[in-house]
Amino acid sequence: MEAGWVQCGQDAREHRRGTNVQASEQAIRQVVQEVLAQLAARGSNGAASGRLGGAPSGNWGVFDTVDEAVKAAQAAFEQLSRASLEDRRRAIDIVKQICDSQAEELGRLEFEETKIGRLEHKIAKLQAIKTVPGVEFLRTDAVSGTHGLTVTEYAPFGVIGAITPVTHSLPTLAGNFVNMVAAGNTIVCNPHPSGAKIACEGVRRFNKAIFEATGLQNLVTIIGKPTIESAQAVFDHRGIKLLVVTGGPAVARAALQSPKRAIVAGPGNPPVVVDATADIENAAKSIVAGAAFDNNLLCIGEKEVFAVKEIFDQLMTAVGKHGGYRLNASQVAQFTAKAFGPPKEPGGHHVLNRDFIGKDAAWLAAQIGLSIPPETLILYGETDEQNPFVPEEQMMPFVPFVRANCSDHAIALAKKYEHGFGHTAIIHSHDVHTITKMGRLMNTTLFVKNGPCMAGLGLGGEGFLSFSIATPTGEGVTSPMTFTRQRRCVMVDDLRII
Ligand code: NAD
Repeated sequence: MEAGWVQCGQDAREHRRGTNVQASEQAIRQVVQEVLAQLAARGSNGAASGRLGGAPSGNWGVFDTVDEAVKAAQAAFEQLSRASLEDRRRAIDIVKQICDSQAEELGRLEFEETKIGRLEHKIAKLQAIKTVPGVEFLRTDAVSGTHGLTVTEYAPFGVIGAITPVTHSLPTLAGNFVNMVAAGNTIVCNPHPSGAKIACEGVRRFNKAIFEATGLQNLVTIIGKPTIESAQAVFDHRGIKLLVVTGGPAVARAALQSPKRAIVAGPGNPPVVVDATADIENAAKSIVAGAAFDNNLLCIGEKEVFAVKEIFDQLMTAVGKHGGYRLNASQVAQFTAKAFGPPKEPGGHHVLNRDFIGKDAAWLAAQIGLSIPPETLILYGETDEQNPFVPEEQMMPFVPFVRANCSDHAIALAKKYEHGFGHTAIIHSHDVHTITKMGRLMNTTLFVKNGPCMAGLGLGGEGFLSFSIATPTGEGVTSPMTFTRQRRCVMVDDLRII
């Protein structure tokens, strides 16, 4: 009886076990089917990131408020942290590919919106994004010894608040994306209001293509209608771990005063020194090429020239042969009066006429009644050092040339009018002693010898490109490593295998 009962009990348990096995097999099958369906919908080979929760909200990364943008970027950061390095690489390749293949359309949109610079250079700047370094720039450091192994890894900060300029709205955003996402961060961008439409268009295109390829959402978010208040809200938001500010004096000052860590790519006023040993044709050609690029909007662009008296006239003639149109003294005076108003307070800055920023040389000449060939690259003329074009960052293709007594005088003027920004200085010389003297004295982030300013960013010189050159805070030409924090991982007395 008892044995029968035992027998019966065993049967019952066997039966129950069989039922449970069937149920869990069914559950597993269901889970597998769901995963396969998700992978098929994603259309990829199953990146670790995973597409969670269907189509992205917020119009592909464009948000009304800073708070919404930060929340989305925070969720994106968590998703990116789970993703593989391969997914980061794919996201970056997508941004580079969009900038390259859609450069003409996007460059034209930026030009039409901002109405400054030169269309061909808007396009060139976007095409150059493919040279900005990405994941390949990251490294890990290791030290091994008697006491074991220590590894230093370069980790992301989290959500970065990026403030971008009107002079290169989408190129700065795209370049920041490549650097910052390579390092594992996500971004909230507050663009310049006058370049916000193109920045938002870029963000939408980047996020949509990245989502379709990897399932990663909102790696970059942006404020659709940015204001100074929204910039301040980015500065103050607790969810933002690092600020990266690219712009002029006001925003650079605001960022430097922020209690948050800030990487500041501030203003410049790059001087050029030309001494008696220079290759004058090359100097003239380089000065025109640099100052004409995007109508002198580049922060690294040649803004004033100090040339020694022995070669001054020869240089002036050569600039005319390479695309410059020379203004005589009275034309310089007339033009200066149109381009600058008087200082607001005695001894203060002359007020720049913002309508002149980034305009073509021929348009600028027309403002003083001159009709010159439309293909003219720059206007130039002899001035004294008091002319406001010398101390002010004019951001237009008029370059003042000041006669210096000797190379030491030229270098001293260059030092004075760079204002200690520590940004960019240029020299044309074959005297190693003079070059060294200027390099030491200027102490700038970029010091270019015998070429146009663009050579300092790997365009015609060695090195890599970034549109954010961190000057007062000292990080230099930014790269993925700039946007990392060091994390040290130590194993004591073990894991050393040699
Ligand atoms: P800008 O200073 O007018 O604007 C830059 C950004 O800062 C914009 O997004 C603007 O809305 C914001 N902003 C301005 N004042 C602010 C404030 N008080 N608080 C918060 N946000 C503020 O500059 P811009 O005309 O767009 O760009 C040109 C300037 O940027 C030049 O001075 C140029 O040298 C500099 N720049 C520097 C670099 C670099 O890498 N160092 C690169 C590009 C441009």
